[in-house]
Amino acid sequence: MIPLSVPNLTGNEKKYILDALDSGWISTAGSYVTRFEQDMASYLKVPGAAAVQSGTAAIHLAMLLSGVKPGQEVIVPTLTFIASVNPAAYIGAAPVFMDCDDSLNLDCDKLEDFLKKECVMTSSGLINKSTNRIITAVVIVHIFGNMADMERLRALTGQYGLKLIEDAAEALGTYYNQGSYHGQFAGTIGDFGAYSFNGNKIITTGGGGLLTAKDGKDLERAKYLAAQAKDDPFHYTHNEVGYNYRMTNLQAALGVGQLECLEDFIRIKENNYEYYDNAISSMENFKLLKFNQKARNNRWFYSLFINNNGLDRNAVIKQLKEKDIETRPIWQLVHTQKMYENCQAYYIEKAPFYWNRIINIPCSTSLLKKDVDHIIQALSYI
Ligand SMILES: *Cc1c(COP(=O)(O)O)cnc(C)c1O
Repeated sequence: MIPLSVPNLTGNEKKYILDALDSGWISTAGSYVTRFEQDMASYLKVPGAAAVQSGTAAIHLAMLLSGVKPGQEVIVPTLTFIASVNPAAYIGAAPVFMDCDDSLNLDCDKLEDFLKKECVMTSSGLINKSTNRIITAVVIVHIFGNMADMERLRALTGQYGLKLIEDAAEALGTYYNQGSYHGQFAGTIGDFGAYSFNGNKIITTGGGGLLTAKDGKDLERAKYLAAQAKDDPFHYTHNEVGYNYRMTNLQAALGVGQLECLEDFIRIKENNYEYYDNAISSMENFKLLKFNQKARNNRWFYSLFINNNGLDRNAVIKQLKEKDIETRPIWQLVHTQKMYENCQAYYIEKAPFYWNRIINIPCSTSLLKKDVDHIIQALSYI
C-alpha cells in the first residue's frame, strides 16, 4: 500500500533522542525543550515560542489568552480538522461556522458580510445580533499548508476588534514571498499561531505542538498556564487553574532533528507536486488545486479535485485502494458534527461542494518516483 502520509525520520532524530535519554532528562524539563523552542523561533523569525503537548493544546491556550470566556463566541471555519474548534467548547464558548472559498480557506467575503450585517459593535465588544453573545476571536486555518489571505483577515479582525488565531498546524514553513507580509510565516502574522507535530504533519515529534504570540507577555503566560500555573515551585502554590501542556524533552529532541530536515521536506513536496501536476493537468476528470500565488507554501497535502459530476468521490477512493493507493476525503464538515449541529453556520455553500469532490493523494516525503508514476497511471484509467 502506498500510504497517504508517513513520517520521515532519516536525520539526526535518533542521535538527539539517545542523547536526551542518556542525560536522564526525559520529562518536561530538559535542554532540548528550550533548544526546540529557540530553533523554531529562529526559523519562524519570531522572538520566542512555547512548546506544548499538541496542536490542540496550543489552540486552547491561544483562545484562553485571547480572552475567550464561557458564553462567548468564536468564529471558525467548518472545513477543518475538529481540533480548530473543540478548544472553544472546552472553554464553554460557542463556535460560529464560516464557509470556505475556492482556496479551501475561510471565505473572507462571507466573514466580512457576517461582521457587517449580523454583528453590532458595543462598549462591551462585538455582539452577534442573532444570539446576543460577544464574539471574541476568529480562528483561521491554512488548509493543507496553503497560506490564507492574512492581509484581509488582519484588516477585518482589526476593524472589528477581534483576536486573530492562526491554526498553522498544517502550514509550518509556509511564508509570504511578496506583499505587505513579505518574509513572514504562516502562524506569525495574527495575534497567535498554533503548530502541530502530530505523526502525519510535515515534521513530527510523535505528538506535540507549539504556540507563538505577537505579544511576548502572552507567551510567558502561555508557558505559565501550560505548566499548571505554578507560582511557587517549592511549596507548589498555584493562584489559578492551569494545564499540564508542556512538551517533554524526548519529544523536543525528535523535533530538533526533524526541524533540521524541514526545508528538504518542502523541496521534495514541491517537486512531487509539480510532477503530479504535470501529468494530472492533462486529465479530463481531475485537477490539482493550486496554492496561494503570493506565498512559498509548504505543500503539505495535495488536493485532487474531481472535475466530473458523474464521478463519485467514494468510488474514486475505492478504485485507488484496489491499486494499493491510500487516499482520503476531506474531514466531515465540523458544523455537521453531532456536537455542533445546533450552532450557527453562516451560508455554508462551497464547503460541501469541495467536500464532495476532493481527495488527498499520497504526499509523503519518502514517495518514490515509481510510486508517483503508479498513482498517475491509476488516475489516468479512471
Ligand atoms: C493536526 C491539526 C491540528 C491539531 O493537531 P494535534 O493533533 O492536536 O497536534 C489542528 N488543526 C488542524 C487543521 C490540524 O490539521
